[in-house]
Amino acid sequence: MRAIPDIPVHLAGRPSSGGLVVPMITPATRDGLYLFGKITDLVQYQCLIRSLCQVCGQRLGRRAVMFARESDLFYGCTAEPAACPPCAAYSRRACPMLAARRSRYRASEHPALAGIPLAADQLLRQSAPAEPWYAVWIRDYDVIEHPARPGTLAASWQRIPPLCIRPLAATA
Ligand SMILES: [Zn+2]
Repeated sequence: MRAIPDIPVHLAGRPSSGGLVVPMITPATRDGLYLFGKITDLVQYQCLIRSLCQVCGQRLGRRAVMFARESDLFYGCTAEPAACPPCAAYSRRACPMLAARRSRYRASEHPALAGIPLAADQLLRQSAPAEPWYAVWIRDYDVIEHPARPGTLAASWQRIPPLCIRPLAATA
């Protein structure tokens, strides 16, 4: 049984499910089921354009974290919006994918997903072997169209060099 981390004070107002905070970017079905690990195009767009944290929804400050896989590092961008440092610290403990508790992503879509628009990025994750994750610390980013996924927005650190890039496993 895995440990469920305490909910940080700044996230106490957000809904939770199974003891885990529901990030702002996480979609919910009509009957209130939260789809962890998914993102919605609309919230993704709002977070990227307005520089909002994808977990708490607050404006990002001088530093933010983007969680990236090797393939994201190759392109220097990720379709997932950034998180503020406190939310990033919480996500690393709470998110099954980031905490490497799951060796493989969901093999098939949840039936409750029918009718919910998902970002194209999600399709690439299905049943892919879990890649190692990296924390990309940034001070700013550009919103671009993902070079490998036409029609998908991404936050890019190509033009604005990141402060540092650290493998999650090595610094957990
Ligand atoms: Zn936050």
